[in-house]
Amino acid sequence: MRAEKISEMLDVAADVGGKPTDAEFPTPYLGRSVKIVGPHVNVDMNQSPHPKNARGELGKPLFNWYRNTVSNDPLTRVSAPNHFADRRHFLTNVINRSTKGKVNPQKVAVDDPAAMTRHIKAVAHYLGADVVGIAKAHPTFLYAGSRYVQDGTAEDAYQQEAPEDLVRRFPYVIQATTAWDYNKLQAHRHHIGDAAYHVSQMKGVLMLKALEGYIKELGYTALRGVVTPQAAGVAGGIGELGRNGLVINRNFGARIHMPDPILTDLPLVADEPVDIGVEDFCKICRKCANTCPTNSIPFGDKVVFNGIEKYKINWLTCYKLRPYVHDQWGSCLTCAAVCPFTKPNVWWHGLATWALRTCPIPARPALVHVLKWIDDRFWGVTRANRVRWLGYDSGIKPGDQACTVAGCTASHEGKGNSGAVDGNIGYYAPLKENTNRFVKRDA
Ligand code: SF4
Ligand code: SF4
Repeated sequence: MRAEKISEMLDVAADVGGKPTDAEFPTPYLGRSVKIVGPHVNVDMNQSPHPKNARGELGKPLFNWYRNTVSNDPLTRVSAPNHFADRRHFLTNVINRSTKGKVNPQKVAVDDPAAMTRHIKAVAHYLGADVVGIAKAHPTFLYAGSRYVQDGTAEDAYQQEAPEDLVRRFPYVIQATTAWDYNKLQAHRHHIGDAAYHVSQMKGVLMLKALEGYIKELGYTALRGVVTPQAAGVAGGIGELGRNGLVINRNFGARIHMPDPILTDLPLVADEPVDIGVEDFCKICRKCANTCPTNSIPFGDKVVFNGIEKYKINWLTCYKLRPYVHDQWGSCLTCAAVCPFTKPNVWWHGLATWALRTCPIPARPALVHVLKWIDDRFWGVTRANRVRWLGYDSGIKPGDQACTVAGCTASHEGKGNSGAVDGNIGYYAPLKENTNRFVKRDA
């Protein structure tokens, strides 16, 4: 953290709750995949991709894509940010802009935080969560500046408080999330993959809103737009941070969202970070870096960025692709689809991840080589499965007319769809073709 930043925070903390000390806020352990190793400036989400783009700071193509483009895909229009004809059809927007409810003054006493932890996790699962983790809050996990809720707003009575003081008041973070469908994800770089991604994301927003309301009805505070989702995810044991910049979960791999978590004073017991072998796998694998169409994922070692040791992806090159592929797909997802951890949540996947996480660390590289060989052999070095769903068909070449008749199961090969390919191989634009397209047009 920069010196002036530290002194500013010390001043504010002295006003509202006393000076923070290392003993009060020891550097949190985040597992083997990511480490806090130096001074860290809290993330200001106003400097993150979407807000920058909304202000027009990333160039005209991205700005127009974000603000002025209606998707040609009706499912994208109701489930993805900003590509609707009418914003009121996008449920996430409706939920995130709704009036915030008050905390019930009739507080439920919590005598047993462990029992409450089990209860709140069960409630979250019942409301639709696939994975739930509880993290002990730490000032470095909190955003600098104002609250940030994508496609919505968040106000609360604690806006002016320093991260240290917020953590003193609200010591726990609940990260509850949803996984996206494995089979549809195989059609990454396609509207089918978009649907799997965006609809599960929307369900996650709904689930978290309901969980937020439940905590307030119990008489406790639930703040949103305050905590970095990835920090909450790794600290709360949801997964490890991969080379692809995604939190990778034991059961679902990289096909989970990292939504806006809940900062709360509900008495809970925090989970610990997990070791599922992502650290060992990423050192050897590099499948995501090899298949990324924009070369945004590093092949080399981790770096220290803002005091955090991790693999650093280039979010700008990843983001810049979107305006040029908008007619065919919205969210790339290739790095999630290709990751060997991303599999159906079934027994053989459980067996492989069990073998990896119970293997002594020195012996893991050998096991990783075997598991990666199996992955390449049976799932391929890239993912190019053909997926047919709701009349969509990832065997149709992007730009050609796909059948969009709901419920249609007919084969259209050779009947006007000139780009249709035979068999079970999906059509995916040659990987680097996309990059060349946007590099040339953006120059
Ligand atoms: S371009 Fe695709 S593969 Fe590359 S980082 Fe972005 S989402 Fe992942
Ligand atoms: S594809 Fe391989 S290198 Fe990339 S995140 Fe997954 S395990 Fe790590």
